[in-house]
Amino acid sequence: MSHAAFFPWQTALAVNWLGARERFAHAWLIHGLAGVGKREFALAAAAALLCESPVNGLACGKCLACGWVSHGNHPDLKRIRPEALALEEGADEAVGDDAIEISNDAPTSGAATKRAPSKDIRVDQIRSMESWFNHATHRGGWRVAVIYPAEALTTISGNSLLKVLEEPPASTVFLLVADAPDRLLPTLLSRCRRLALPTPSHTDAMRWLEGQGIQSPDQWLAAAGGAPVLARRLAQSDGPACPAWLDGLLQSLHSGRALDLGALADIVAKTPTPQWLDALSRVAVDLNLVVHGLAPRYFPGLGKSIADVVRHCDAKKLSELSKWLAEQSRLATHPLNAKLFAQSALQRMATSCQSARTV
Ligand SMILES: [Zn+2]
Repeated sequence: MSHAAFFPWQTALAVNWLGARERFAHAWLIHGLAGVGKREFALAAAAALLCESPVNGLACGKCLACGWVSHGNHPDLKRIRPEALALEEGADEAVGDDAIEISNDAPTSGAATKRAPSKDIRVDQIRSMESWFNHATHRGGWRVAVIYPAEALTTISGNSLLKVLEEPPASTVFLLVADAPDRLLPTLLSRCRRLALPTPSHTDAMRWLEGQGIQSPDQWLAAAGGAPVLARRLAQSDGPACPAWLDGLLQSLHSGRALDLGALADIVAKTPTPQWLDALSRVAVDLNLVVHGLAPRYFPGLGKSIADVVRHCDAKKLSELSKWLAEQSRLATHPLNAKLFAQSALQRMATSCQSARTV
């Protein structure tokens, strides 16, 4: 685990919030724009709560507890996240982290051990906290569970967590992190105090990205909808802010040229599904904005093509396209046949954009 620190646009809020320890709630829902640094905020908050000599309410980075946190082995800190995410974060070295244990009820055949890592927070991950609650905390301090993303809680694991929050164990703080609180169980929401994280101003976000050594930060910030942490991640992944295939797709859509969806799907499917699906979702948001006379949010560089495309579009079809893509992002991140899935998504896109002309 890397050093847990707040981003510059979070520090003032963090100092204020952590300064009121005597009135600190036992469960918080930390929410805000996707890619604004919520997970980092929650982990930095956990470090601050566990630190033995906080400075201004924030972690000192020097004490024993801070050392344990930065090595990912503080006994009073648990990160509850989907197995797939834990692997992505390199959790296999994180001692005392049970997020990657294989469920006991999984069949023991060879195939089962190779199953795709779970994208849900499973009920046994919540139940495994029970024995943790029964142990005294280090020097009688706090115990902190960071649960992210809270949308990954299933109905079963969400209800199991609800039971815990209804009779919260002593000295324990639960930090739930969510992009979309409205996707959580209302009963669970009612047990949490909400903490909305700020989105930095464009100037502050640009300054931070420049400080991170990101080239053309304005493009990436636009592609990330103004969320700087996501902008940095996009910039550090392969490829340009706007993939060439997307540009090509839009041009074919407005020129009315026949689209070779099979060939395009071949190209698209070379990037990981969540990545291209995300690009399609974002361009769909832009199409929806432009069709209502607003400026594109994610791909200002494609503004002209987008404007040309929406001239033939039906606003209702575009709004349905956005909903459909959002649904796919939740369901289909590991399709059996990536190319076929890409082709059907592109087909859907083409149909939604050419509706007025073909009808
Ligand atoms: Zn410390």
